[in-house]
Amino acid sequence: MIRIEFEEPNIEVCDCCNNKTTKLTRFVYKDEDAFTIYYLKFTKGHDHKFAVGIISIGDWGIDDEPKNRFSFPFRIWLSENDEYQIGLIDKEESPWNHPLLGKILDRKEALEHPWIKEVFHITDHIVIEDKELIEYFD
Ligand SMILES: [Zn+2]
Repeated sequence: MIRIEFEEPNIEVCDCCNNKTTKLTRFVYKDEDAFTIYYLKFTKGHDHKFAVGIISIGDWGIDDEPKNRFSFPFRIWLSENDEYQIGLIDKEESPWNHPLLGKILDRKEALEHPWIKEVFHITDHIVIEDKELIEYFD
């Protein structure tokens, strides 16, 4: 059972166009254990509507060095028939690279990682439950 805790959005001004960039932080609990954090970022008014995100899975219950923590950067966009598409991206393309995120995986590594199913399980929840993201694409 997955539960997402939604923080208040952070709004910034986009460097390239002065539009509003929204940054979201979410904590995900699985059977009430903290096991994932994810971030999302998107800007209104850009030509191509997409969000970038990163899902970090691992021992979030402890403050120690994140040995067993891996991060999966991705993009979300809508297909022509308005279905959510999720695409993994390389770590170079990720706007987040904080050490607390653990090892940030490139697309290829991510797809071969045993936790990739968890990643897509979480993105399934994101596109149904994350209201700020849903509004952005609406
Ligand atoms: Zn911009």
